[in-house]
Amino acid sequence: MNLVLGDIPIRVEKKRIKNMHIYIKPPFGEVLVTAPKYVTDKEIKIFIEEKSDWITKNVEKIKDSPITPNPKYETGDIIPIWGEFYNLVVLEDTRYSLTLNGDTATLIVREGCTDKQKEDFVKEWYREQLKERVEILLPKWEAYTGLHCSSWQSKMMTSRWGTCNTKTNKIWLNVRLAEHPVECLEYVILHELAHTVVPNHSADFKAVLSKFMPEWKTYKKELNSYK
Ligand SMILES: [Zn+2]
Repeated sequence: MNLVLGDIPIRVEKKRIKNMHIYIKPPFGEVLVTAPKYVTDKEIKIFIEEKSDWITKNVEKIKDSPITPNPKYETGDIIPIWGEFYNLVVLEDTRYSLTLNGDTATLIVREGCTDKQKEDFVKEWYREQLKERVEILLPKWEAYTGLHCSSWQSKMMTSRWGTCNTKTNKIWLNVRLAEHPVECLEYVILHELAHTVVPNHSADFKAVLSKFMPEWKTYKKELNSYK
């Protein structure tokens, strides 16, 4: 089903879920509303009406976001790193590097490199950023919660921010977490650690999250809008 709120198109999907959710996706502020299968179209319309101020405000906010969607890493692109925006300047030299100075990110690439080589370098750079933070934050959260994973690794993922193998307690974290505020990474770390004691997303699971991070829903929502 498709609806319109003012001039904002809204896509509605019915799924096997318990509550209605609103997602606003960057960079164009597309709105997706997911609803349980038993909810009527009329109820969905009322829900959207009630949330109309919130939707309008957040669509504007996302449209104003300066981030370059799917960047090719060219001079003039704006890229996010730990929730801050950087103006990218690309130079050529003999070896690759990426350095941050003020609000400028200077990417030096090897002369004549392909787009793929450039993208791979940046991806690995993000991976290193993530690794540096996780090596500090994971032990911190393990000590704070008393929950432990067996090991962790990073991976590029398109639909999830992290996963936990509940048999081995190994955790995977999405490389792209390094684009978002570090609190979002901390939320995902806690989320995956919580899976070592509660494998599903039940009330017990949420109680673990709330115990150690009362504001976890804020970070979850922020990350979900980028999926
Ligand atoms: Zn989970």
